[in-house]
Amino acid sequence: MVALSTQAISGAPVTASAARPPAFHALAKPTGAICNLDCAYCFFLAKEQLYPGSKFRMADDVLEAYIGQLIAGHSADHVTIAWQGGEPTLMGLDFFRHAMAVAERHRRPGMRFEHTIQTNGTLLNDEWCAFFKEHGFLVGISIDGPAELHDRYRYDKGGKPTFDKVMRGLRLLQNHSIDFNVLTTVNSANADHPLEVYRFLRDEVGSDWMQFIPVVERINADGRALLQEGDTVSERSVGAEQFGRFLTAIFDEWVRRDVGRVFVQTFEAAARSWLGLSPRMCVFDKTCGLGPALEHNGDLYTCDHFVEPKYKLGNIKDTPMIELVASAPMRAFGQAKRDALPRYCRECPVLFACNGECPKNRFISAPDGEPGLNYLCAGYKQFFTHIDRPMQLIAGLLRRGRPATEVMEILAREDADLARRIAATGRNQPCPCGSGRKLKHCHSSPRR
Ligand code: SF4
Ligand code: SF4
Repeated sequence: MVALSTQAISGAPVTASAARPPAFHALAKPTGAICNLDCAYCFFLAKEQLYPGSKFRMADDVLEAYIGQLIAGHSADHVTIAWQGGEPTLMGLDFFRHAMAVAERHRRPGMRFEHTIQTNGTLLNDEWCAFFKEHGFLVGISIDGPAELHDRYRYDKGGKPTFDKVMRGLRLLQNHSIDFNVLTTVNSANADHPLEVYRFLRDEVGSDWMQFIPVVERINADGRALLQEGDTVSERSVGAEQFGRFLTAIFDEWVRRDVGRVFVQTFEAAARSWLGLSPRMCVFDKTCGLGPALEHNGDLYTCDHFVEPKYKLGNIKDTPMIELVASAPMRAFGQAKRDALPRYCRECPVLFACNGECPKNRFISAPDGEPGLNYLCAGYKQFFTHIDRPMQLIAGLLRRGRPATEVMEILAREDADLARRIAATGRNQPCPCGSGRKLKHCHSSPRR
């Protein structure tokens, strides 16, 4: 684990700083918002309304501009070429074969490409898998847990469940030995089942790399989210404390048995923060601005979550992408993440790990009434506070050149010691765990 994986499919992995950054992480959407599924919580489907009458297919001149400018805009030798949607596989294989040829034509000596694609997996077949294998793709699959949890909100255009089709795609990837990770949205249906979700992904799917993305779906007057407006959320959204409990429960299992063999993006990012490094996960970074989203027609937006008219930077057919990424509006967008933090965040003990999370979720008021607090604050505060001790242990191990996996032995010894002390404590005495509660209301409570 914390030697630290660089796998990342969604989210900008690096921190904005220089006017012309050496690298950035563009997310291209060759079908725009078009998808073969109709997931209830998908924030992107409504973006179709931004391009009325469009065929929603990236044309050859945009593809050429995207890849050529992406490569030209990198002074680093490592370039990530990332595809997302909508559903990018709707473009068909010939589009992606052409994209590979364009990339090869622009490759500079010594340059390495990392090809990534985020897909719902339902359209994959052997031909797709052979293509992924040939080009070393990292494939991100969206799955929300076992069938009864996944199918609650992820269905097709006919309202039919999609779990079986996603699992079919996953097994194909595994049969072809293709690198994949899973992206799980945490919503009101699966949020109260953290261990069921985690164990399913780990043991049944066989995934060793997971992302958990909270669903925070703001409601507008039309009942569906097109713009970042509205201060209420849909019933599909996860609650703040609920999300904190979800992460905490999974962390407690992971840190006791899976360190070094299962990579959970949020935990990796946290470990980096405890080490004083950049978390490499944009939502926890101090600033944004290196993760632009490219629409099918060449329009470039500040971020996947801000594909809205006022966050459009320009069109890459008119202005080179690197200029748009380094432009004043993009820098202002990126720095606003830090500069707009409410005082409640600036004085928060876990600011170093949370950084106020994503600006798209900052639509509630702090206890002192200042606007701009993150909707998920209560959950993050609980989670980051809870993991402080094990993260300090992990950071200490790594600083001493020890493997992070040793944290599991340390915690096992501590757990055994606590169990011994609990056995020797009366029900009405203070719990030895230090909670301040009586034992009968703490570690011997039947609810625990
Ligand atoms: S707006 Fe949110 S998702 Fe976009 S780059 Fe910033 S933190 Fe990341
Ligand atoms: S936990 Fe809450 S107060 Fe602390 S930085 Fe995050 S959003 Fe701000």
